[in-house]
Amino acid sequence: MKIEILAVGSELLTPAFTDTNSLYLTRRLNDLGWDVARKSIVGDDADDLAAFIRDAVARVDLLLIMGGLGPTEDDKTREACAEALGRKLVYREDLYAAIRERFRRWGRDLPPSNAKQAYVLDGAEVLENRNGTAPGLRLREGRCEIVLLPGPPQELEPMFEVAVWPKLRERGEGATGRRVLKITGMGESDVETLIAGLYPPSGGPLRLTVLSAPGRIELHVTEFSRVKDVSVFPGLEALSRELQNRLGDHVYSTTDEELEEVVGRVLRARRQTLACAESCTGGLLAGRITGVPGSSAYFVEGFVTYNNEAKSRSLGVPPDLIRTHGAVSAEVAEAMAAGARFKASADYSLAVTGIAGPDGATPEKPVGLVFTALAWADGAETQRNIFFGRREQVRFQSTQKALDMLRRRLLRPGGT
Ligand code: ATP
Repeated sequence: MKIEILAVGSELLTPAFTDTNSLYLTRRLNDLGWDVARKSIVGDDADDLAAFIRDAVARVDLLLIMGGLGPTEDDKTREACAEALGRKLVYREDLYAAIRERFRRWGRDLPPSNAKQAYVLDGAEVLENRNGTAPGLRLREGRCEIVLLPGPPQELEPMFEVAVWPKLRERGEGATGRRVLKITGMGESDVETLIAGLYPPSGGPLRLTVLSAPGRIELHVTEFSRVKDVSVFPGLEALSRELQNRLGDHVYSTTDEELEEVVGRVLRARRQTLACAESCTGGLLAGRITGVPGSSAYFVEGFVTYNNEAKSRSLGVPPDLIRTHGAVSAEVAEAMAAGARFKASADYSLAVTGIAGPDGATPEKPVGLVFTALAWADGAETQRNIFFGRREQVRFQSTQKALDMLRRRLLRPGGT
């Protein structure tokens, strides 16, 4: 089965917008054991679109086209398809009535431009859009099945799930299982060394891919089975287990959880609480922690203490300590963690102080130097790291390190 995806829209050819729909569609097609042969983006030019569609239908079995089904002048997908396939656009009274009814429910009159959405390619099946006005379309042209989907993800995804995926599944050639192991606290080359020899032979049903970003490495394990509807993938299970054995507690998730969710889950189960004090991350750490639904059960307070005076005033860090060691030091990180823990009356506290760059470095303290600290009832620890990358990457890695210190502490047998 040869499959291509076409994203339509001039905005997707600017730096402001990214085609994320195709990632979603690719994942769902992979679930059925299919690879995508090509993804393309074409702007809102009817001639370019028609030319692309004409060529594509001759070379693929399934062409998924998304975007450009709206009411505005620059929405050209329907017209371009009609032109490419030599089909008429047929007015459908029932569709017009449905769109008008939707506007009525919104308390608005139907704008004349929306009438365009009641035109359907001759011979196409209409796919209901429960979350917008642009209906989807499905049609066959020779060997090629063409599906037209709306651009907004909140419209495309439900339509694809309800009207497209189940039908594709009937024709699917198998199923794909997927497991993602998330790792932090080690570099890509160390991971490679530890997992050496575990790469499955290429071309087989099992695949292992390593994706690396600052502060986080992901191992993606997939297994294709020729049996449809299978839910157990023995090869994938065995390989994931072996990878976990080799990587040990560097693996923080095998269920797609992020670090803040992992620590949040444990804190919640133990009915323990957390506070944090941040300098160079400026609230990013608290933002990640509170981005988890239900975090109010364990997160008490976050302090963003950016300058020295704030560190002393809000957290009780002695000015002398800052003068002697500098704000970016293990001593100050530990004092920040202890201060936040005390002020918030929390069980644990995390602190971050560092130089996120691009300015502010000295010969002794380079950009990327970050101290993270963890304080608990009867102890504290600090770590010194030099993170590489741009400001936002240094800041992200700092929060990752802080959360991982807490995770490792919580993992300790009977750990406090
Ligand atoms: P509507 O009638 O709702 O406008 P449409 O099919 O005409 O539907 P477009 O006008 O092409 O959709 O796109 C509307 C918005 O949907 C875009 O501004 C963008 O935010 C989002 N969008 C479009 N295509 C994609 C894509 N490939 N990936 C992610 N978002 C997309």
